[in-house]
Amino acid sequence: MAGPTPKVLLIEDEASQRALLSYNLQAEGFAVVEAGDGEEGLLLVEEEAPDLILLDWMLPGLSGIEVCRRLKTRTETRAVPIIMLSARSEEVDRVRGLETGADDYMVKPYSLAELMARVRAHLRRSRPAAVGERLEFEDLLLDPETHRVARGGAEIKVGPTEFRLLTTFMERPGRVWSREQLLDRVWGRDIYVDTRTVDVHVGRLRKALTAHGHDDPIRTVRGAGYSLG
Ligand code: CA
Repeated sequence: MAGPTPKVLLIEDEASQRALLSYNLQAEGFAVVEAGDGEEGLLLVEEEAPDLILLDWMLPGLSGIEVCRRLKTRTETRAVPIIMLSARSEEVDRVRGLETGADDYMVKPYSLAELMARVRAHLRRSRPAAVGERLEFEDLLLDPETHRVARGGAEIKVGPTEFRLLTTFMERPGRVWSREQLLDRVWGRDIYVDTRTVDVHVGRLRKALTAHGHDDPIRTVRGAGYSLG
């Protein structure tokens, strides 16, 4: 994959279902984070910044509908695609599911192949760089296939880490990323890197992007992190 691996959050209380889905998602090449209930799911959305959420309808405590509604009313999570999984097939459920803002809906028992196809389809829209599509933000252009960055038509040289950072920023302009989230996304969760390293590389990226007298497109959000635009 050209960009950082897409991350799927799986919110499902049944351990066997969770294991099955997790196995299949990983076999498709996705990183998977698992939650056993809605509360934990909401927490993990903040900590892990998933690219897509598979959300079970019937959960202990907070229902899947409520989790969906909360995520879709928050600016920073609204764009994350949610596929709801339900054991109930009544049309009313489908309608309610869509009213909560869920992007898609599948009734159990569903075909795993179809679910994976839908996951890929939603990720193509939410994580275009991961499937090789060019990204644009104002006068910035990034091509994940050729690893080229241009601003105002002129090529900009960036290192591999800065390229991954910029990819992350450009896939979701306006989204504020914490240093921990950037570490996880750009460096990978298994590598130990100090959060100050993030500041160093954001600094290098800024220097490259502003080299020809351009404005700095990266915003530092005090106490929160960084965002593009
Ligand atoms: Ca359930």
